Amino acid sequence: MAVLVLLNTYPVWLLQRSVFTGKHTSLSGQASFLAGELSLDGINPERVGWIMEILYEKVPEADRVTVCAADGLVVYDSAPISRQTGRYFVSQDVLAALSGQDIFRSAFQNEVFVSQMTVPIIVYGKVTGVLHISQYDSEQGKILLDLHTNLLMASFVIFLIALMLGLMISVMLTQRFTEFLKTIGIFSAGNYDYSMPVRGKGEMAEMAGKLNHLAEILKQTESSRQQFVADASHELKTPLASMKLLADSILQTPDMPQELIREFISDIGDETDRLSHMTETLLRLSKAEALGRQNTVIELAVVIRRAVRMLLPLAAGAEVELRCVLDDGCRIMGNEDDLYQIVFNLLDNAVKYNNSGGQVIVSCSGQDDKVCITVKDSGAGIPQKDLPSIFERFYRVDKARSRETGGTGLGLSIVAHITERMNGEISVESEFGAGSEFTVFFPSASP
Ligand code: ADP
Repeated sequence: MAVLVLLNTYPVWLLQRSVFTGKHTSLSGQASFLAGELSLDGINPERVGWIMEILYEKVPEADRVTVCAADGLVVYDSAPISRQTGRYFVSQDVLAALSGQDIFRSAFQNEVFVSQMTVPIIVYGKVTGVLHISQYDSEQGKILLDLHTNLLMASFVIFLIALMLGLMISVMLTQRFTEFLKTIGIFSAGNYDYSMPVRGKGEMAEMAGKLNHLAEILKQTESSRQQFVADASHELKTPLASMKLLADSILQTPDMPQELIREFISDIGDETDRLSHMTETLLRLSKAEALGRQNTVIELAVVIRRAVRMLLPLAAGAEVELRCVLDDGCRIMGNEDDLYQIVFNLLDNAVKYNNSGGQVIVSCSGQDDKVCITVKDSGAGIPQKDLPSIFERFYRVDKARSRETGGTGLGLSIVAHITERMNGEISVESEFGAGSEFTVFFPSASP
């Protein structure tokens, strides 16, 4: 609308101004010429009429010429109806001209340009009269009016087109936004299988794509949450059920031997230990998933040696040899406790799932911009089919053995989570019955 208003006013104003300037130039030229001619003779009423009859044709643009003496008495008027004598012409312009000024006025009125030029007639430096020229230009007025009308029509057409386009775009946008709102409503209701149609290119399509992606992430999170709750309750149910069974057996057998009662109660104690170990590990896992830990430069060899020292008694008990092949100077950015947890869990498994007389070798080395930690054991190994699942929560390959060793199926999932958070990668190679090798890569922090 602002552009249209400007389009309708500015060119008209510009044309009007140029017409005024043109009029000023031409009328002031003609007025000066006439005033000059009249000043030769002075304001002599008999001679003025006669001179003006001759000169009038030389000022074709003047529609009316009036000459009056210094007292305002009209001595000549080209308009036939006003040619009476004894008439005075006094106006502001006449008074200003009598004081020696040239006065020009022009206005666009009733479709006509009305211009007036008033100049003094000076004889020997003295103002003896005033010459007044008026002009009524309807031709230029018509041009201005035509321009205005054409601009108005063009503006109307532009307005209609803009209105139609605006309506179309707003309808399209509203439809799209309605779709977005509908989709968000569907996702909020928990239906993540719905996918918003992605049409064309541009921001809208990108937004639709991103919304669908968000739904996929929500779906994965929701399903892993459900899986976690199901797994956790299942895992917690088993020791609780066996505890209840043991307690019921004691209660329902009145003459149970003291020995057996002690054995059952000791079993209940074991299950309680297992439960508390599991809840502790679950807490650690939820911590591992939480962000916001402080990162520092960590020396791998130092952390690995600390974990090895902690596990030496366990290894000795299981008659497993624990060896280190560590390159000093391998550094990463991260949290020391996190790294300790990774190494500890891998070594713990390597010892737990080993055979008596077996071996565990933990090494660390750097290559290019990466460092790696390898934990290799000569133990039970993992069947190929289980390899993709061992990093899942509560996944245990050999349930019986894992139970024996107090395993919860959470150790490797903690390792995977922390590794991912530290921008690392973990891989495993294993041959069932021959041993396994876990390798964790981290971006190096060494210069
Ligand atoms: P757990 O608490 O049962 O040890 P983990 O998540 O640490 O749970 O390991 C998952 C499963 O992967 C274990 O139950 C075990 O069967 C298998 N596993 C892990 N590490 C080894 C290894 N070094 N050798 C053989 N099996 C392993």
